Amino acid sequence: MRNASRNYIKTASWLRVLTSLLLSRISCLSSQCIWLRSPTSPPAVKDKYLPEILRTDGETAICGTWATERHSGSDIGGTVTTAFRQDDGSYRLQGHNWFTSAFGFKKFMGIKTARAAEAPTGGKGLGLYLVPSHIDDDWAVGNNLDIKHLKRKLGTRGLPTVEVDLQGALAYEIVPAGQGLKAMMTALGCSRAHNAMGAAGVMRRAYMESLCWAGNRETFGKKLIERPMVQKRILDIAVQWMAGSALAFEAARSFDDAAKDSRKEPWMRIVTALAKFRTAEQAVWCAQKALELVGGNGYTEDYATARQFRDAMVLPVWEGPEQIQALELMRMIAGDEPGDRLFLEKIASVRDPLPAAMNGENINLSALASTMERSFKKMRAESQKVELVADEFLHKMSDVLTYALLCEEAAWIYENKNDGTKLLICRAYHAHVWPGEFAAPSFSPGALLRHFNHIVQSEPIPPGPGSNW
Ligand SMILES: Cc1cc2nc3c(=O)[nH]c(=O)nc-3n(C[C@H](O)[C@H](O)[C@H](O)COP(=O)(O)OP(=O)(O)OC[C@H]3O[C@@H](n4cnc5c(N)ncnc54)[C@H](O)[C@@H]3O)c2cc1C
Repeated sequence: MRNASRNYIKTASWLRVLTSLLLSRISCLSSQCIWLRSPTSPPAVKDKYLPEILRTDGETAICGTWATERHSGSDIGGTVTTAFRQDDGSYRLQGHNWFTSAFGFKKFMGIKTARAAEAPTGGKGLGLYLVPSHIDDDWAVGNNLDIKHLKRKLGTRGLPTVEVDLQGALAYEIVPAGQGLKAMMTALGCSRAHNAMGAAGVMRRAYMESLCWAGNRETFGKKLIERPMVQKRILDIAVQWMAGSALAFEAARSFDDAAKDSRKEPWMRIVTALAKFRTAEQAVWCAQKALELVGGNGYTEDYATARQFRDAMVLPVWEGPEQIQALELMRMIAGDEPGDRLFLEKIASVRDPLPAAMNGENINLSALASTMERSFKKMRAESQKVELVADEFLHKMSDVLTYALLCEEAAWIYENKNDGTKLLICRAYHAHVWPGEFAAPSFSPGALLRHFNHIVQSEPIPPGPGSNW
């Protein structure tokens, strides 16, 4: 585990969500304490606390990311908690944290952004501090952390979230003043990729719940799963799940790539913002539709779908809501960073090697890339007004990238496994996102619906000649 790639760790996140979003959340939070390994972290602090996070004997210390204060979780530069240096090199933190999850375990710690006393205002004055729950070696003497309020939440109730006052809490500086905001943003980037993977897990679970229910429930003398409208809805969920998974895995992969080559960081930041936003939206939609398919039972706490829906609702909120992802995206595509070029290069790298059977997808990607290229140029020309359109770029770029990633997967499976499943999913995604002109409903079932049984049984769909197989 110590040497596992982040991609692997995030995949594990996905698997954990199949049981509960909260399990994935805990591992996500703990992975942030990797900042303990930063070169600026004092060796004694590293030696004492890192093994506590990595131990696997049931005594692991759980970690949290403490960045949100009363004024805002988005505007971390406004942090008011202050760090006072002590003679022995440790610090005492005076202030608060407004949202503090994973608090109250037997052993826990948080990484907290705080302003060193007399450091400048704004993000420039922030450092990053490790705050242990206990101050002695035996984890018996509590730190000066005072719970003010246990949040009463819509969901994620299995994971307590509190408002906490730090009343001269013992802390250790792990990233010095001036670099803390950047470090926290990097940590949040990692959480956002976890969030995307967790969202993909939520979608997969929604798909499974729908499928299991529809396969057993009978109304009007027939199983729900035999009804075309139910089949269509299950396929809608499957399409979103596979699309969201493609995006989440791209985000996870981008972390590994950036860890090996820092020139890949801009792409990591772009895809993370797109994936955090889009997969969260998809997960809420899938969880809601699964609940509806289970019907009144699905709305009750007797069935899993109610809790899954409530839990999923947090995905678009924490780790930075939509507008914050849009602003992050703008930093990458509208400023000095060449994110717009990287985006177009990615689309071209998917499009160019597509097999002949995917000529339609080739044409679609070319058209989408041209529109994006024109939009990027316009945005560069109107760079003072990017806040007016940042959310629209977030939406459009996440749609285009998701479609491109589905094309990439579809091509690989088509060519290597002679399986057209992903191609059908890819086409359904395109039709869903860009439906075209309003037209009368078709009375012949679409390709995806015709292959419903193959898809839900995870059986390959051998592609036939032409496009109508
Ligand atoms: C269940 C739960 C657990 C949490 N656990 C933790 C935790 O353990 N640690 C922690 O630090 N935080 C935690 N949070 C806090 C979470 O990260 C924040 O709620 C989130 O980052 C948003 O911050 P905020 O709530 O202060 O909203 P605000 O920052 O006030 O934002 C409110 C709205 O305004 C929008 N907005 C903000 N600024 C702009 C702008 N410049 N332009 C356009 N729109 C803008 C936002 O997108 C959002 O929609 C948790 C939250 C929840 C719900």
